[in-house]
Amino acid sequence: MRVIINDQQPRTTVPDTPPGDDPLLRLQQETEEDHPRIRFTTHPEPITIAGITVMCPACGARRDWMVICDVPGRLFLRCRCAHQWHEPELTRTDFDAMIDAPDRKYPTLEAVARDIGYDGTLTGAYFPQ
Ligand SMILES: [Zn+2]
Repeated sequence: MRVIINDQQPRTTVPDTPPGDDPLLRLQQETEEDHPRIRFTTHPEPITIAGITVMCPACGARRDWMVICDVPGRLFLRCRCAHQWHEPELTRTDFDAMIDAPDRKYPTLEAVARDIGYDGTLTGAYFPQ
């Protein structure tokens, strides 16, 4: 088979990347959208595991938690003093039972913590129940 290439025809197949359309940036955005999200909720009440009320080892707080569920389903507790730790006794099921609102989307966990007051600026502060 002979292929005839006519150089007089405008080439329409592979357009050049227009300026401002950075393929790397586009990939990043697509990756973010597809990426499984870390979920979180807040839990103003004390959390009891096996009859023992969870206490923050850093500041001694016993309530007002931020509960984080990562992609593999591990649960982390975060205190108002910004101390955060993995709580192996809690599972995704516990998280689903605690979640009180549809999760919001934040770029990073630190952004979440800052936005809802778990970055340490409210250390020792309790809101009225
Ligand atoms: Zn604490």
